[in-house]
Amino acid sequence: MNYKLNYILPVLLCLMMGCNSKKRDGEAQQSTLIFPKGEKVTNNNFTGTVYLHTMVEGDSLNTNSVGNVTFEPGARSKWHSHPAGQILMVTDGVGYYQEEGKTKMILHKGDVIKCQPNVAHWHGASADTAFVQVAITGREKGPTVWMEAVTDSIYLSKENNKPGI
Ligand code: MN
Repeated sequence: MNYKLNYILPVLLCLMMGCNSKKRDGEAQQSTLIFPKGEKVTNNNFTGTVYLHTMVEGDSLNTNSVGNVTFEPGARSKWHSHPAGQILMVTDGVGYYQEEGKTKMILHKGDVIKCQPNVAHWHGASADTAFVQVAITGREKGPTVWMEAVTDSIYLSKENNKPGI
């Protein structure tokens, strides 16, 4: 009898407390998602696991493409630049943004970044928390220019939270 209770009680408690639905701390919670997570990115432009849902495809009249990008913890883009610039709007999690020659910035939900045209930069999740951004990218001046991967030493460099950096 005692043996059975010792086994059954923890299982019952676990089910009552929702142990099965508990997610990893760094994972973006489904309830907070605004736009669909999309499909896993399979190209070589990112380090780690990244998902993309394309919401708007640019056309000849409005060239902006709009994508919802989810970076799992540790994931980031390679260095790159956008010939017509880019706007990033953070919708969830904790992430980083860094322009060449500047200090890495830490980003939170509600932050907005305007990347100037042809300025090399990278963006991605923090090491232990996922990051979700809406990216609006002008295409009228040509496609994104991709460069080298962001090394671990740059990725883990000290951030600066002062505005305007
Ligand atoms: Mn970018």
